[in-house]
Amino acid sequence: MCGIIGILGYRPAVPLLVEGLKRLAYRGYDSAGVATLVNGHIDRRRAQGKLANLEALLANSPLPGVVGIGHTRWATHGRPSESNAHPHVTDRVAIVHNGIIENFQELRDELIAEGTRFETETDNEVVAHLLTRELQHQRTPQQAVDTARARLKVAFALAAIFAGRPDIMVGARRGAALAVGFGTGEMYLGSDALALAPFTQRIAYL
Ligand code: GLU
Repeated sequence: MCGIIGILGYRPAVPLLVEGLKRLAYRGYDSAGVATLVNGHIDRRRAQGKLANLEALLANSPLPGVVGIGHTRWATHGRPSESNAHPHVTDRVAIVHNGIIENFQELRDELIAEGTRFETETDNEVVAHLLTRELQHQRTPQQAVDTARARLKVAFALAAIFAGRPDIMVGARRGAALAVGFGTGEMYLGSDALALAPFTQRIAYL
C-alpha cells in the first residue's frame, strides 16, 4: 500500500506532486507516476524504479497543468513496470489507487464483455474504466466515484481527476487513510499529513 498525492491548484502541479511523492517514499515503492490536466485533457508521465527516474523523464518531457495526481506504486498485481504504473487513465479520467481489489477479475470480465480494452496487468485499472462507464452515462464525477466504489471489494484509498473539469478532484477511502489538505486557493489529497506538510498544516482525515 503506497503513496497518493493530489493537487487542485493555481500553479504548476508537477513540482509539488513530486515533492509530495518524495515524502511518501519511506513507505516503499517500485515505480511512480503523475497525471495532470493539460488544456482540459489528461496527460501523464510514469517511470519504473526510483523517483529520480520520473524526475529525469519530466525534465526531458515536461508536464504542465495546475491540477494533478501522483502515485508511488508497490506492485501486487502485474510486474513493476512503466506500463503498469499508476495513474491509470482513459480519455475521461485519471486515477491513482492504493490497495488490492479482491474482485478485480469479475469486474474486468464484465468490462471486457462490454468492449473495454485494458492496457495494464493491474487490478486497479478497473477503477478507471468503472468511472468512465458512469461518466458516459452522464453521472457527475462525485456520482461516478460513489457508484464505482460500491463495486470494489477492498480496503482502498483513491484519487481521481476528470477531463474538462479543472474545478474538481475526488478522493475516496475505505480502510486505508486519505488526508485532505486545505490551502489558500488550493486543495490537496495525500496518503498522510507528512506528504502535505510542505503545502498546508490544515488537514482533515477523510
Ligand atoms: N494493487 C496495486 C497494484 O498492483 C497496488 C498499488 C499500491 O497500493 O501501490 O498496482
